[in-house]
Amino acid sequence: MDLNVLVLPGDGIGAEVTREAVRVLGRVAEKWHHNLKLTEGLLGGVAIHRTGTPFPEETARLAAEADATLMGAVGLPEFDNAPPEKRPEKGLLAIRQALGVYANLRPVRAYASQLDSSPLKNHLVEGTDMIIVRELTGGIYYGTPRGITENGGETRAVNTMTYTRTEIERVSRMAFHLAQGRRKKVTSVDKSNVLENSQLWRRVVVEVAKEYPDVALDHLLVDNCAMQLILNPRRFDIVLTENMFGDILSDEGAVLAGSIGMLPSASIGGRKPSGVWVGLYEPVHGSAPDIARQNKANPLGAIGSVGAMLQYSFGLKEEAGAVDRAIEAVLASGKVTADLRPSGAPATTEQVGQAVCAAIG
Ligand code: NAD
Repeated sequence: MDLNVLVLPGDGIGAEVTREAVRVLGRVAEKWHHNLKLTEGLLGGVAIHRTGTPFPEETARLAAEADATLMGAVGLPEFDNAPPEKRPEKGLLAIRQALGVYANLRPVRAYASQLDSSPLKNHLVEGTDMIIVRELTGGIYYGTPRGITENGGETRAVNTMTYTRTEIERVSRMAFHLAQGRRKKVTSVDKSNVLENSQLWRRVVVEVAKEYPDVALDHLLVDNCAMQLILNPRRFDIVLTENMFGDILSDEGAVLAGSIGMLPSASIGGRKPSGVWVGLYEPVHGSAPDIARQNKANPLGAIGSVGAMLQYSFGLKEEAGAVDRAIEAVLASGKVTADLRPSGAPATTEQVGQAVCAAIG
């Protein structure tokens, strides 16, 4: 199979973790005789430096042409006070919107060998296995009007949370579809006791649920969900929620998995003519400037994202399963980076990538 993949390393540890993810992709292509064609592009701070914009037109073109895109992370402290259009994170929002990837899938698993990496008690995290399905191209991150205005000596800031029925329906269908292949349970998270947006969200989710009678649906308010994720994470199978709530809740997932460096994500949209999903794959973590260029970032979130790419964009279930099992084997072997607090000397980013390739065989 031809695998035409665009790689956008981005900033900070983005380059380091995507290098290992690409190494694993190469190993898979070699073993299963796929024709891997890699293209590299600019996104984020590195793109601002080279072209003046965080999401250059050339990157948009390359992403549209590729079968799938693998992203590292964006963000550099030097841009912290830059205007919104000149911030690396703007590139991230722009590429998600350009590709129309409206559903962000964030699997959270507590691996048996890593229970001690979580600050929570083992009996709480053991057995955790959920996917957070976060709506990605709507809500308060994109709504208008937005901005900061000065009027009569007072400063006012506005953001707008907006959703249409169509936006809620399509991400809900994705969540129910995923649940059918798992434990058949969707928990929809909203703030319907306060927000009209959430009232529409809940109404539409209930309607979509009728199309999936084999899947159980329950609802949680987002504040309670934040608590239940820590108190009883095993109760969750698919967590379905809007953009900002999903952004915040999925970082709690990092506490369950042991480190944010562990978490992969897949952002998917409509289907290509060939039937595969349009996909953008990236670890959940950011550019981690505090550990950049030190070869100590955990690449397993990026590598797991390659597994998701093989599954969703290329329909290669066997290869995707092999990547997942290799990650599990490396974790069990104890060859892990410092964030997972190994008992012996921590492995480097590169050593973990190499170990995953070796485990694939
Ligand atoms: P971050 O995820 O970069 O880092 C948070 C903490 O987790 C840091 O202590 C970091 O060292 C650690 N960490 C993150 N990834 C790790 C890994 N793979 N291995 C080991 N440790 C890891 O979040 P932040 O510090 O809030 O943000 C830094 C920059 O990244 C900011 O500019 C922010 O806007 C950006 N950001 C980008 C994305 C993205 O590109 N998707 C996501 C979140 C934050």
